[in-house]
Amino acid sequence: MKKSNFYLGLIAALILMSVSVSAEKKPKNVIVMIGDGMGLAQMYSAMTANNNHLQLERCTYTGFSKTYSSDHYTTDSGAGGTAIACGVKTKNGMIGMTPDSVKIESILELSERNQLSTGIVVTCAVTHATPASFIAHQVNRDMYEEIATDFLKTDIDVFIGGGLKYFNNRKDQVNLVEKLKNKNYQVAYSLDEALNVKSGKLAGLFYEDHCPAMPKRGDMLPKSVMAAIDILDNNKKGFFLMVEGSQIDWAAHDNDKKQIVKEMLDFDETIGKVLDFAQRNGNTLVIITADHETGGMTILNGKFGSDDMDAYFSTKNHSGVPVPIYAFGPGAEQFTGIMENTAFKGKIEKLLDFKK
Ligand code: MG
Ligand code: ZN
Repeated sequence: MKKSNFYLGLIAALILMSVSVSAEKKPKNVIVMIGDGMGLAQMYSAMTANNNHLQLERCTYTGFSKTYSSDHYTTDSGAGGTAIACGVKTKNGMIGMTPDSVKIESILELSERNQLSTGIVVTCAVTHATPASFIAHQVNRDMYEEIATDFLKTDIDVFIGGGLKYFNNRKDQVNLVEKLKNKNYQVAYSLDEALNVKSGKLAGLFYEDHCPAMPKRGDMLPKSVMAAIDILDNNKKGFFLMVEGSQIDWAAHDNDKKQIVKEMLDFDETIGKVLDFAQRNGNTLVIITADHETGGMTILNGKFGSDDMDAYFSTKNHSGVPVPIYAFGPGAEQFTGIMENTAFKGKIEKLLDFKK
């Protein structure tokens, strides 16, 4: 072999190696899981009740997210969700907009524009603040019917939760369910109906308003999330999915420690199933975090295996403390340290090599 050929070969091998090394570090799919109101104490109450173990522990990368909004030390879920989804701090109550009411493209919409499949699965009405932040642009989170209309302006592939009445029983008499069908959505009114859908577009609106609390909801969340992944994973280019454990927050507003454990364990079971998929798949980044802490919860004493712990709350509302981030899969190392809640979008965008 000529010496020049040897060096050419060596250079080619080095280039191939560096390509494969960097390819290993980039995810194809991203799943963002938001435990609404899930601070450290909410997480630890479930870990305590579940005999000192959670699926969440499989995430080897952890960090903290600073949750304050543009106008309040303590955020609401509108500004908190908007920060995660759109990468901007906005005023409490606003959805997918800057404080000056300028619409900002969310990471879900950006994923869609870059030909990824997209989805949302939640345990509240799909029009509620957290899911709305990923798809809608409204000055006020209470504009549920306007937010429902915003779903039709996107090409989201799968959305599952409650909130049917905001689509088919509206002040303006417009039937958005019919419009969804015209846009080739398969509309499912129950989990069983949704589980029959294996490809194409799916709108799962299982309840008139929010889904019931645990345990009445059963395994709606884990099963719906896996059904969504099954459909979204048909796209070779990848997918972006947002999953919310919506009702951890509501149990914490009620200062109901046992209900917090129930909602947390439902979310954690879902996390386990998602991590199983990510592990099998190998190209999936899973980021788990919260929009804020709720209840100012603390635990002074407890017994592993029991949900009857010495838990206290300092408020019936949200608190301003940072919330944990847990990450798994290629790119997970990007979500460590202490970061602003506005940093998620840019980091995901970069990992997925999106065009602006
Ligand atoms: Mg929420
Ligand atoms: Zn709340």
